[in-house]
Amino acid sequence: MNLRGGIRQRLEQRIDGRSGEGILTAVYDLIDRLIPLADGRILGIGVGTPGLVDSRQGIVRDAFNLGWNELRLGELLKERYGVPVHVANDSQAAALAEFSFGGAGASPHLVVVKMSRGIGVGIVLDRKLYHGDGNGVGEIGHVVFVDDGAPCRCGRRGCLETLTGSESILRFAQAAARSDPSSALTRYAAAPEEIDIEAVSAAVAAGDPSLGSHIADVGRAMGRALAALVGLLDIHRIVLAGSVAGFGPALIDPMRNEIRSRALPPLASETVVETTKLGNDIVLLGAAALILNAELGLP
Ligand SMILES: [Zn+2]
Repeated sequence: MNLRGGIRQRLEQRIDGRSGEGILTAVYDLIDRLIPLADGRILGIGVGTPGLVDSRQGIVRDAFNLGWNELRLGELLKERYGVPVHVANDSQAAALAEFSFGGAGASPHLVVVKMSRGIGVGIVLDRKLYHGDGNGVGEIGHVVFVDDGAPCRCGRRGCLETLTGSESILRFAQAAARSDPSSALTRYAAAPEEIDIEAVSAAVAAGDPSLGSHIADVGRAMGRALAALVGLLDIHRIVLAGSVAGFGPALIDPMRNEIRSRALPPLASETVVETTKLGNDIVLLGAAALILNAELGLP
C-alpha cells in the first residue's frame, strides 16, 4: 500500500487445511513474493489476524482458527525482513481502517463491529485504538448470551457468536434448504453444503421469509449486545463490517430497533449504525493504518 492506503500490489493465498507452522510459512511466502514488487522503500509490515493479540509486543496469544498460540509474530517478521512490524487483532485493525479511511467525520470516537465467523469489536477512543489492560478488547463474541445454548468453539455454550456468527447462519440455512427443497436457497447454491453467506444474502434479498426472519433474529441479538455498549460508552457511530454485515437492512433495521428499545432514549437517538464502505479490504487497510499510525503518527 502507499501512504494514502491505496493498494499497489495484491497477492492471496488460501490456507485450507493448514494450521500453526504451515500458516506461518504461508505468511513468509506471501511477504517474500510481495517485497520485490515494491517500487519504493518499505516503511513497515502491518498484520491483521484473528485471535487474542498483544499488539504492544506483537504476540498472537491465541488464535483457535489458525492454530497459533503464543506466536511472537512481530518479532519473527522483524528479524526476517528488517523493517518495523505491527500486529493487531482483525477487529481492531478494522476499527483503525474505518477511522483512518472511512470518513469518520469530526468525532474522535468510533466503534467497529466485525461480524464474520467470529464477532469482534474494535474501539477508537480519542483518536487512538483502545488496547485495554490485556489482549482481549472487543471479545464480545464469547460472552454467553443464552444459558445452555448451542456449543461454541471456545468450549462454552450460548456465546453471542453462536447466535450471530456466519457459521450459525450457514447451519440454519443449510438445515432450511435440506428440509425444504423448494427454498429460495436452491436458486443460489447447487447443494446445501455449498451454501455460503452470499447465497443466503441473495435468498434473503429475494424475500425468503424464514431466512429473513432468522437474519432479523441475528440483528436483534446483536442489537441487545450493542445497546449495552451504547449505554457504557456513549459513542455515536457504530460501523458494521465483515461478511455478515452484507445483509444490509434485513440485519441492521432490527438491530437499530433493538438498540432504540433497550438503551436510554437520549443516547440511542444519537447513535448511528451503518455498514462500512471499505468492503472486504477493511482489515488490509487497517494493517496499513497501523504502520502509518505507529511509524508516522498518522492519522
Ligand atoms: Zn464462545
